[in-house]
Amino acid sequence: AKTIHQIQSGQVIVDLCSVVKELVENSIDAGATNIEVRFKNQGLDAIEVQDNGSGISKENHATLALKHYTSKLSTYSDLECLETFGFRGEALSSLCALSKFSVTTCLASDAPKGSKLDFETSGKLRSTSIVAAQKGTTVLVEGLFHNLPVRRRELERNIKREWNRVLGVLNQYACIQTGLKFSVSQQPNKGKRMVLFSTKGNQTTRENIVNVFGAKTLTVLIPLDLELELEPTNTSSQRLTARGNSQAQLIRVRGHVSRPAHGEGRQTPDRQMFFVNGRPCGLPQFAKVFNEVYKAYNASQSPFIFADIQLDTHLYDVNVSPDKRTILLHDQTRMLDNLRESLSALFESQDY
Ligand code: ADP
Ligand code: MG
Repeated sequence: AKTIHQIQSGQVIVDLCSVVKELVENSIDAGATNIEVRFKNQGLDAIEVQDNGSGISKENHATLALKHYTSKLSTYSDLECLETFGFRGEALSSLCALSKFSVTTCLASDAPKGSKLDFETSGKLRSTSIVAAQKGTTVLVEGLFHNLPVRRRELERNIKREWNRVLGVLNQYACIQTGLKFSVSQQPNKGKRMVLFSTKGNQTTRENIVNVFGAKTLTVLIPLDLELELEPTNTSSQRLTARGNSQAQLIRVRGHVSRPAHGEGRQTPDRQMFFVNGRPCGLPQFAKVFNEVYKAYNASQSPFIFADIQLDTHLYDVNVSPDKRTILLHDQTRMLDNLRESLSALFESQDY
């Protein structure tokens, strides 16, 4: 049973990036306004995520890391309209199985006395000790994959690429989350801890982008606010009728994109970030359309893209893969054709 648990856990936590995503999403779900992500040796030694969110109440300490324990999913239909990031109750139990894992947590009413929780690999609570803490939760993951030697070696071998992906995803959270102070630091094997980037609790994604990528970025960006219309099809209209709405669905694409003619020598940071309802995700087909349309106006550079696709939760499905990385969009071809037209119109309307 232990082996099966390890194998299944390895499907939720597939790499460094999924650890980071799960922990940051838990902190966001907990209502944090301050999140610090700290790495040791690019995460190979330790990943620590500290937040000032709700904390975890005592009656949940023992069940926290058990498989399928979640405080977030009350009914099955919630799966369809998920508002929180987490919903499976698999992340912490998987991390227990795959690393040396501990949690320090404190409710506002208990501060400055928190609890440090240590767990068995099975997810069972091993011990609790009282420690000094402020309101919030800190999760510490050390020696990821230490008990899966092949996976561990793979991680070490690919650490450079993995690290870049991790930073990319953290950039995305830092930019999309407004009202959140977000900071990322790293301590190399030998050397001092350094802050890599941080945001300041800004009210706009523009200010977040300035914090993360520098003020120069703004000089080349134009606001993105497109509306794509999607006719209801049979399946969706039945559902929508049931919800008292059979009209065409509006999809908004909001964010920032490079102005194609932004002058010689003005280099945009080479970043392309996509979100679905604020959730960072890779959308290669959307990226392709953006890049193609942009190329028609500026063949020599690729654009900075920050695009949040906002749509009804019934029009997509993130549950197709356990790591929630793949996303299925309803009527994607039509959505993309529509996007291509609107984006051309936006670029066309700029001065050249
Ligand atoms: P899920 O997020 O799908 O519910 P997880 O395994 O990620 O499952 O977390 C299990 C539970 O632990 C959550 O439902 C939540 O109650 C609690 N939890 C995890 N991280 C935090 C955090 N940073 N702050 C408060 N509660 C947390
Ligand atoms: Mg979670």
